[in-house]
Amino acid sequence: MARSELTIDLGAVCTNWRALAAMNTGETAAVVKADAYGLGAAEVSRALAGAGARTFFVALAEEGVALRDALGPGPTICVFGGHMSGDAALLRDADLVPMINSIDQMLRHVESLPGRSFGIQLDSGMNRLGMEPGEWAALREIALSQKPVLVMSHLACADTPSHGMNAFQLQTFRQMTDGIDAPRSLSATGGILLGSDYHFEMTRPGIGLYGGLPFVDALPVAALSIPVIQVRDVNPGESVGYGNAWVARVPGRIATIAAGYADGILRAMGPKASVWAGETRCKIAGRISMDLIGVDVSAVKDMPDTVELLGAHQSIDTLANAAGTIGYEILTSLGARYHRRYVGA
Ligand SMILES: *Cc1c(COP(=O)(O)O)cnc(C)c1O
Repeated sequence: MARSELTIDLGAVCTNWRALAAMNTGETAAVVKADAYGLGAAEVSRALAGAGARTFFVALAEEGVALRDALGPGPTICVFGGHMSGDAALLRDADLVPMINSIDQMLRHVESLPGRSFGIQLDSGMNRLGMEPGEWAALREIALSQKPVLVMSHLACADTPSHGMNAFQLQTFRQMTDGIDAPRSLSATGGILLGSDYHFEMTRPGIGLYGGLPFVDALPVAALSIPVIQVRDVNPGESVGYGNAWVARVPGRIATIAAGYADGILRAMGPKASVWAGETRCKIAGRISMDLIGVDVSAVKDMPDTVELLGAHQSIDTLANAAGTIGYEILTSLGARYHRRYVGA
């Protein structure tokens, strides 16, 4: 097998969703933006719909159209970006629910799609998307009279439970929404873990479904195995890869494996990252190339045909640490060249 294989465990996605759903009493939606964080929105969403998820969130109307094709009629598909100019036909034809972010978007929506469902996104302090308190105060009565299906906001620091911003945003969201009839939603994965004050009528986990922090108890979802192309001996003083960045100090063995930064294996992680050959941890030797990586396999007794970059031994967050990033970016960077195998459906 020449291509690297990305195995996506849909059973683990569903188990993670059920575990997060069990922590709160409201509805648990699923965030599948950016192709379900790179893992395949169609496959992931169909599996989650089978497990009982009824509401899905995407970033853009175009993603919602593709998701509607995959899911068919029935599930609610919400669009975080709201109703952007030119989106009316997409929203209508695919029956998508825009999360209205501004007075301009509200006007656009009632003019182009009168009577069609929408949600409201409020800014409770992150200053990214949503209406600010003043804007909301001006629009509130009119917007609520049109019966929004959801009123939501988003936490900036939920992955740090002790951060004062969490309580501040909770209080702001409450001040903006206490007493309304519409269902409310404040929390993604991190907010679910903050406890019931943060749950309201709906939660919106993403990363926790896909095996990432801050959901420490998540089952891993993505496994990546990479074939070994060749193995060679190196003598002290010999270098490996571009720029001679790695030089053998003792006699050793180097495996060249068939993936690189074009497959989303971030070049920046090179010096700190490892792969696993069976039960042996092997450091990356030298710079990550576009399609190839050198690995120090000197300690490996029986060289396997493939090595593992993600899987039982190494999580997305371990790799993220090596690259100075977060598990989210490891997942969304995963390349298009892998053979993708879905298991556990
Ligand atoms: C991405 C996103 C989520 C999901 O966040 P996770 O941290 O992945 O659980 C929820 N709500 C909004 C508004 C988002 O942008």
